[in-house]
Amino acid sequence: MIRFDLTTDQIPTAWYNALPDLPEPMQPPLHPATREPVGPDDLAPLFPMGLIAQEVSTDPWIDIPGEVLDILRLWRPTPLVRATRLEEQLGTPARIYFKDESGSPAGSHKPNSAVPQAFYNKTEGLTRLTTETGAGQWGSALSFASAQYGLECKVYMVRASYNQKPYRRILMETWGASVVPSPVDDESNPGSLGMAISDAVREAVTREDTHYSLGSVLNHVLLHQTIIGIEAKEQLAAAGELRPDVVIGSCGGGSNLGGISLPFMNDPAVRLVAVEPASCSTLTEGTFEYDFGDTAGMTPLLPMYTLGHDFIPPSIHAGGLRYHGDSPIICNLVKAGRMEAVAYPQGKTFEAAVQFSKSEGKVPAPETGHAIRAVIDEALAAKETGEEKVILFNYSGHGLLDLTAYDDFLNGRLVDA
Ligand SMILES: *Cc1c(COP(=O)(O)O)cnc(C)c1O
Repeated sequence: MIRFDLTTDQIPTAWYNALPDLPEPMQPPLHPATREPVGPDDLAPLFPMGLIAQEVSTDPWIDIPGEVLDILRLWRPTPLVRATRLEEQLGTPARIYFKDESGSPAGSHKPNSAVPQAFYNKTEGLTRLTTETGAGQWGSALSFASAQYGLECKVYMVRASYNQKPYRRILMETWGASVVPSPVDDESNPGSLGMAISDAVREAVTREDTHYSLGSVLNHVLLHQTIIGIEAKEQLAAAGELRPDVVIGSCGGGSNLGGISLPFMNDPAVRLVAVEPASCSTLTEGTFEYDFGDTAGMTPLLPMYTLGHDFIPPSIHAGGLRYHGDSPIICNLVKAGRMEAVAYPQGKTFEAAVQFSKSEGKVPAPETGHAIRAVIDEALAAKETGEEKVILFNYSGHGLLDLTAYDDFLNGRLVDA
């Protein structure tokens, strides 16, 4: 047996909330102007109350609305696969399992949060959503979710990607979204995720009918993504595993990593590992302090490891990992020593991604290649020690719309500084 599936009616019906179980109490977000803790009213121009409540909830489990499950069931539960062919190729005694989130409509884990976010906005009477997107993964997830609930969706796309990567823009437009290059006020500026967030937030606060939606970082996004780890736990048990020894995920803002790892957090025997790019190494080289989520300083200040909100990461191919900060939940775990973090240069991650493609067949997103690099290194370490380690990682998305990146790698155009 290499594939462990759950039936449609085994889809989890509640999300796991990590907030009450964190090693240290969470510091509150601060208002950008007053630097006082933000209250629900401060966030109301941006988010529906359903999501604001989840952002601060101390309930250990939060029910998933039936209308959300109806849409998640289009592709969930997702498979858990044992990568036996990769194990054989590496000659490792480790058992490697991956949770395959690449089969969603947008091809990544991101619709797991886009769907509930669109749902809560719809039920509270909003008719439009704005958001930012880098390479287009979050934008396409929210475009899909908006189409399901009949919401208008406007996506500010980092200008460099808008010009160079038309396929996800076309995907967004196919789902009915409108896509504009960001920053809107400077056509010569290649843009950044932080600038696109500023553009999207600015529009949401000035329109009654419009809210803003964020694809990672915030507590409610990680909450929605825990469906990944909850399913994986059950599937690992079906595979006859007591527990994973290590859980690994790539980390941009921390949502897919949180999704796979938080449900294992309370078992001290399970190591948790974040993998980030060396060129945007927030957790391994950033400083822990309050910082803005965007470039213009319009969002609340969050307690996180950050490279500074005006940091513009080099344009590596793993666009989803180019963010100056990280989820406060993930930062809390790293700071407390509960989670480890490693960073890799992108060449090393593409080597791993290609090795995975050749053995397991699937071509991973460049972001996912970061997790695979760390998995291969763990498996090779287990080979040295002879340990029968159980490795679980999140296969966060496919790379079929990122083939230019593979072309660059295969033709030696990918140079690490
Ligand atoms: C967006 C994205 C990531 C990084 O975002 P997180 O919020 O850190 O999960 C990783 N993998 C894929 C495929 C993505 O689309």
